[in-house]
Amino acid sequence: MAGKICPGCGKANLFKSNDGRECTNCGFKVIENTGSKGKGKECVICGRARVFNNKCLECGAKYIPGKK
Ligand SMILES: [Zn+2]
Ligand SMILES: [Zn+2]
Repeated sequence: MAGKICPGCGKANLFKSNDGRECTNCGFKVIENTGSKGKGKECVICGRARVFNNKCLECGAKYIPGKK
């Protein structure tokens, strides 16, 4: 089973670990913020509350604010 694409080495070796995800190829770590305080905004694409800094950590959707 393939993992997620690793931002560090580009291989699909990013697997779930205790505190988030970890790349079995290069050791890249993604620490997940799981506490209720760490909830982001709800994503309109995947519906999860994982939007931080205009980016959904769950599905990777990017939110680009308008120029008003
Ligand atoms: Zn990697
Ligand atoms: Zn999403």
